[in-house]
Amino acid sequence: MRKIKALVLFSGGLDSILAAKILMEQEIKLKGITFKSYFFNVEQAKKAAKQIKLPLKIIDFSKEHLKTVKNPRHGYGKAMNPCIDCHILMLKTAKMIMKKEKFDFIITGDVLGERPMSQNKQALELIEKESSLTGYLLRPLSAKLLKPTIPEKLGWVNREKLLDIFGRSRKKQIALAKKYKIKEYPTPAGGCLLTDLEFAKRLRELLKIYPKCTGNDIELLRLGRHFLENRTKIIVGRNEQEDKIIKRLAKRQDVLIEMKNYPGPLTLIRSYERGKISKNIIKKAQKLTQYYSTKARHKKDIEFSVE
Ligand code: SF4
Repeated sequence: MRKIKALVLFSGGLDSILAAKILMEQEIKLKGITFKSYFFNVEQAKKAAKQIKLPLKIIDFSKEHLKTVKNPRHGYGKAMNPCIDCHILMLKTAKMIMKKEKFDFIITGDVLGERPMSQNKQALELIEKESSLTGYLLRPLSAKLLKPTIPEKLGWVNREKLLDIFGRSRKKQIALAKKYKIKEYPTPAGGCLLTDLEFAKRLRELLKIYPKCTGNDIELLRLGRHFLENRTKIIVGRNEQEDKIIKRLAKRQDVLIEMKNYPGPLTLIRSYERGKISKNIIKKAQKLTQYYSTKARHKKDIEFSVE
């Protein structure tokens, strides 16, 4: 009999690790796919895949994902997380790989009732339908609470050995982690910046003043202290490492400010308006640069470089 092959959407979180392990036990040949975006990276997935010896394909969908974040058809969760649209986008991409590389079906680590927005029954069905995977999307951790899928009906996967986990409690998952000797796994909060309320505030503000923002603007949101003057941003680095990244992200039309005669932060001014950056803004940025240097805060002899 030919070997049945499945793709697993693999974030490296405990649920996705367990979903993979359950199918590995049924001798399904698995390949993980994980996504890179401006809002999360792939480090956790790489580490976890190594732990369970899962081959992993990394897909950079940053640009398409940003488009989805700007305009999600199914709205946001508590912060700026468009989880339903995000899942659909990932699964549509996975489906293309499934067809191209001749996989039989796709699995995810979804747990019914775990996340209010994207893991209720209606949302799981909607995601399956909109990613055109009806019948071919298996969620091993909650499969017994969901309709049998084609892999189960065809006997590729034994439904009896799948699970019926429901809700937010992690007890069953932690017990399974012990059973499978999974020692390292991240907390369920995960690494998606879009669920972070502070980051969401910055992102909302940016989308309001500059809806056409790109990856570079998003990367800046992760760094420094932010001050907004009409449609101009002043960003003050918080440490040397951030200063370096801010410098790398600076564009030709941005202004960079530093103190020449005292140690202190690097400050970037980026205007989302046409025209020159005003003297007042430069003065404000200089004041902030001085304020955030403990050595220079009360000095009167500061010299600035403005580039
Ligand atoms: S938490 Fe972030 S990565 Fe996960 S589905 Fe939601 S938007 Fe996508």
